[in-house]
Amino acid sequence: MADALYFVEKECVVCGEKFEVTCVRSRLALIKQDSDFCAYYKEINPYYYTVWACPHCGYAARDTEFVEVTASVATKIHKFLSSREVKVNLCGIRTREQAIVAYKLAIFYTELAADKASKRAGLYLRLGWLYREGQQDDEENKALAKACEWYEQALEKEHMPIGNLSELTVMYLVADLLWRTGEKEKAKLYLSRVVANPLAKIEKRIADLARDLWQEIRATTKTSSSNIKQA
Ligand SMILES: [Zn+2]
Repeated sequence: MADALYFVEKECVVCGEKFEVTCVRSRLALIKQDSDFCAYYKEINPYYYTVWACPHCGYAARDTEFVEVTASVATKIHKFLSSREVKVNLCGIRTREQAIVAYKLAIFYTELAADKASKRAGLYLRLGWLYREGQQDDEENKALAKACEWYEQALEKEHMPIGNLSELTVMYLVADLLWRTGEKEKAKLYLSRVVANPLAKIEKRIADLARDLWQEIRATTKTSSSNIKQA
């Protein structure tokens, strides 16, 4: 496991102190991927280290977002941090529980900064995956429902793509998350939007995933209705 990790010194964008972040080497052996893109690797779970957290002041953000904050956001963060001690040390090798704490902190700061919907969505999605790993179904569902809500907002308000997610991919992901959180009918609406979209001809992989999910929803609907008949 240690081979998959390396450590880099960073300067905190909020307090200016130096601390060590744990980074994951990019060449990991993929074992499988869930329908919502949660990936499993042989060596390690890289999602444990996506959030950087400063042990000096308690600020946390996703690695790609750990950048200078605007003056007004900095004021809000300083005000919050000066009123309490958020000194948790999440450096080094993390447990799943520590990774969850890191995500919750990062989510808190996106709320404080009123960040874009897509930023919050990405954090909630990965938090949900950490709960999945621990088979904490209720917590997973709550996190995925939040991710879904924010991705829906992002679709309405933000320019696509979001990172490496195209508009069609986000639509499909919303459908999958709706399905996972029990919103079957709404999931079908999003799937029909994916399949009918002209981009589906170009983004064939997403179109295929959407069709697979459609089949799965139909199959489970049939099973449950025949169960009712038998009862
Ligand atoms: Zn700091």
